[in-house]
Amino acid sequence: MSDGLRRIVALSVLLLGTGLLWAVGRSTNDAENAKNDREATLAYARERAASNDPRLKGAYRYEQGGWVYLHLEGSPEAIGFQHGFLLAPEIEDAFPAVSAGMMHSTKRDWSFFRQAAREMLWPKIDEEYKQELQGIAEGLNARTGSKLDVYDLVAFNAFEELPDYYVPWLDKQQKTPNAPNLKSPGNCSAFVATGSWTKDGKIVIAHNNWTSYMNGERWRIIFDIVPKSGYRMLMDGFPGVIASDDDFGINSDGLMVTETTISQFEGWDPNGKAEFVRARKALQYAGSIDEYTKIMLDGNNGGYANDWLLGDRKTNEIAQLELGLKAYKLWRTKDGVFAGSNWARDPKVIKEDTPQFNPNDMETSPNARRVRWEELLNENRGKLDVELAEKLLGDHFDSYQKKEEANERTLCGHVDASPRGVAIWTWGPNYPGGAVQGKATDSTMAQQLRLVARMGHPCGEDFHAKPFLAAHSDYAWQEEYLRDMVAGPWTEFHAGEIPVREQ
Ligand SMILES: [Zn+2]
Repeated sequence: MSDGLRRIVALSVLLLGTGLLWAVGRSTNDAENAKNDREATLAYARERAASNDPRLKGAYRYEQGGWVYLHLEGSPEAIGFQHGFLLAPEIEDAFPAVSAGMMHSTKRDWSFFRQAAREMLWPKIDEEYKQELQGIAEGLNARTGSKLDVYDLVAFNAFEELPDYYVPWLDKQQKTPNAPNLKSPGNCSAFVATGSWTKDGKIVIAHNNWTSYMNGERWRIIFDIVPKSGYRMLMDGFPGVIASDDDFGINSDGLMVTETTISQFEGWDPNGKAEFVRARKALQYAGSIDEYTKIMLDGNNGGYANDWLLGDRKTNEIAQLELGLKAYKLWRTKDGVFAGSNWARDPKVIKEDTPQFNPNDMETSPNARRVRWEELLNENRGKLDVELAEKLLGDHFDSYQKKEEANERTLCGHVDASPRGVAIWTWGPNYPGGAVQGKATDSTMAQQLRLVARMGHPCGEDFHAKPFLAAHSDYAWQEEYLRDMVAGPWTEFHAGEIPVREQ
């Protein structure tokens, strides 16, 4: 050892010793500060080391208009690792909020959901998506040291299907005493149109996502995925979840996909394949309406049952796939429009899968919005384009009261403003939920893998958590997670494009 080096080592030991003595003499807060400093240093070192992981090659993120754009590419494991690593802050923020909601409504603890994920869902997940989910857990851990494992992530990916489909089915099977009143959710307003209905005769598709504001404010990811197998996908989505899940997406072979859920749906097949897996697989591998239908039907578990609205820009054909568990129906046309606002319409699906749904009660949210879609789409026949779609997604006309009033019956939902709530979804009075973001695209844009999206209410109004919670103590349990939902601008996203200023 050289003299110089020896001096430095000696000095370090001296400083270290002094530091320890000094630390002992500090107040608790100082000791905590020192601990935090050490943890921050460790976290930084871990993040630096992990950021050299070859699995991150090609992936990137940037933020725009309130959204996080995330580009993922490569093998399933790499796509997962990139997702977990690059969205680690968003996943760690979303997981406690979503899991709190799942446990609150079902009165079940997290170990229940982990068990369902491990024993029921995991064995039927395709190998490719098992690897991707495992990759998310690894990427997350590499970045933050997170303890969430793959079963936490599988349960989390199934947050739309386990609490409101599996649990009520299980409660009925097991005759659970004091079982909570759980109903399938009524998420979203959407349409797909083609032929004489649109301005250019090609397909226009648009969707706004209805959910709790607690979850919806976090539904802010634009995923651009280039998988090793299958088609490139551009879709909106939720941190940590492999499917769009609300759903809105396009793929490089010409499929355009969205949906609205079927209200008052009942049924679950424990031997089926999770909906989030089928929905992701269908967007990744379907090049036609028939292929899409086939993948969704394969292993149908009844979870998160939807009316899928589909378009194929190669043939200019659109379709509606009403996917019940016992029954389903596919409608298709090259000149028409299909709208969705959480109502089933096939008599067989209604009878067998949604026995309690009353299509004639015009006061309820799904039926009132159905009337409004019919009015608006008929009025605008031949004029529909993306710009008009943006306006329609922000519509505030209540067809039941026949007046402008943002509430639970308007296409742009503001259930927090409704003293009625939505009983058929067990959303109580002034439930903090409604339309949380919107998306639209058309055939021309889809060919270039482009879409427009707006975070927050599609009408542009903001939601403020503090005054809401002060006025509605029923929702005090959400206080830790509920945040302001500020509307961003309509923003265009283009697969593969890195904004110049971010490079
Ligand atoms: Zn609105």
